[in-house]
Amino acid sequence: MQDFPWEFETLAVRAGHVRTHEGEHSEAIFPTSSFVFGSAAEAAARFGGTEPGNIYARFTNPTVRYFQERLAALEGAESCVATSSGMSAILSVMLGLLKAGDHVLCSRSVFGTTTLLLQSYIAKFGVEISFVELTDLAAWEAGLQPNTRLLFAETPANPLTEIVDIRALADIAHRNGSLLVIDNCFCTPALQRPLELGADIVVHSATKYLDGQGRALGGAVVGDKERVGKDVYGVLRNGGVTMSPFNAWIFLKGLETLSLRMKAHCENAMQLAQWLDAHEAVEQVYYPGLVSHPQHELAKQQQSGFGGIVSFVVKGGKDAAWQVVDATQMLSITANLGDTKSTITHPATTTHGRLTPEQKVQSGIADGLLRVSVGLENIRDIQRDLARGLGG
Ligand SMILES: *Cc1c(COP(=O)(O)O)cnc(C)c1O
Repeated sequence: MQDFPWEFETLAVRAGHVRTHEGEHSEAIFPTSSFVFGSAAEAAARFGGTEPGNIYARFTNPTVRYFQERLAALEGAESCVATSSGMSAILSVMLGLLKAGDHVLCSRSVFGTTTLLLQSYIAKFGVEISFVELTDLAAWEAGLQPNTRLLFAETPANPLTEIVDIRALADIAHRNGSLLVIDNCFCTPALQRPLELGADIVVHSATKYLDGQGRALGGAVVGDKERVGKDVYGVLRNGGVTMSPFNAWIFLKGLETLSLRMKAHCENAMQLAQWLDAHEAVEQVYYPGLVSHPQHELAKQQQSGFGGIVSFVVKGGKDAAWQVVDATQMLSITANLGDTKSTITHPATTTHGRLTPEQKVQSGIADGLLRVSVGLENIRDIQRDLARGLGG
């Protein structure tokens, strides 16, 4: 991976692009499945890996490469492998780094599909999986086994925005000879750079804030050139979890405005959290920017902003929560997040609907809980839209 002499915002706009002989200013999209060689010897050298260059678009495409190099630069990493979705990024990490007999220690508070992927699929191949409380470092320590290959966590987590100390968790992992994988979806490198804090690998759902405008599915794995550049890349090359060049182009454009958008998301979210906190129909607000958040101090050290996700519990349980959802006229009722458009979800009956009542209590998914991904509309419009169902 190339070294660029630039600051974060400049990298987000310019890193990774190699202009072609046509002199295009914006990054070109290369919609081609294969690439032509000048001679038999060149073809042999490309396939043999003795000469770098494009071969076949399952694993080499210039537009996708621009995106990989740009995101690697933003995360401060040697390597990046772009994938077709966030889930295929996580799948590629598991397939690339695990073998039968290994153990994965995973936070209980991860994206629901990640839990299912591990429990229902990765476990089929003889990998042991166990789950621990995200914020409980002693529980992580106690959960380690000699065969623990990976620790996997999301921070901040969905939907209650709990935060784990990445540096402390990386130390715990490394003392055991294990690797720490962080899903950096909620913060993006604009707000948090897990590799600098000691994590070994970062995964992304580019579908969320990296695109930021709800247009395309994609993912990425970021890390060192051995584990990501070889092991995870091998899964991509042989398993074909490839990002399309069209989507890579969308994500390149998304990255160009990432810093600005994340600042604006944080600002709106902070204002919404404070407004909800003072609202008499609201029982509790979960937002790392509030002093009442249990890991507020940690968030201040570990993140350069508190993020765009605000969750809150309304008084009156499920009926009251549904009333807020149904009274909205502008917010989108959808589970997606990280969009310029604000979205609202009732976790207990959607994203976390498969949990048993006991599991819901254990994970803090109250019946009155709502999650808002705070978009870039004017904050007064977002507040007015929520006020309708909160009784003003
Ligand atoms: C959405 C999401 C994923 C999965 O990403 P897809 O692009 O939908 O496959 C993984 N982790 C987190 C935290 C997410 O929000």
